[in-house]
Amino acid sequence: MKTQSSFTLKEVPLNNNCPECYSNDGLMLTFKQRFIENLFYKAITEDTSLEMHCKTCDTIIFPVRWTDAIEQVVAYQKRAVKPKAKSFKLKQAGWIFVIVDVLLFVTVMLFVTGVLSF
Ligand SMILES: [Zn+2]
Repeated sequence: MKTQSSFTLKEVPLNNNCPECYSNDGLMLTFKQRFIENLFYKAITEDTSLEMHCKTCDTIIFPVRWTDAIEQVVAYQKRAVKPKAKSFKLKQAGWIFVIVDVLLFVTVMLFVTGVLSF
């Protein structure tokens, strides 16, 4: 059970003309950062991705469609965006897993060293 998803880091409205509908107030640049979440932990990775879509014509604008002006703005925004620091958070199930492991280890050690015996 492992899922990879991303959250929206930053959304930037662009003033550039949309390559599809030529509207100049519909373009939106979205930065996303990937995180991994499963039963035991949630970890934020350093991977970011970006996506551009136009709210006016509701189209995803792929990089092949970007004009030079759009590329310049994207390059600028890329430098300005600050990804969240990598992080790793154990969930409750993760903590239980760790604690059970530690308890097992301690019990085994006590048996091995002869402190505990039946
Ligand atoms: Zn458009």
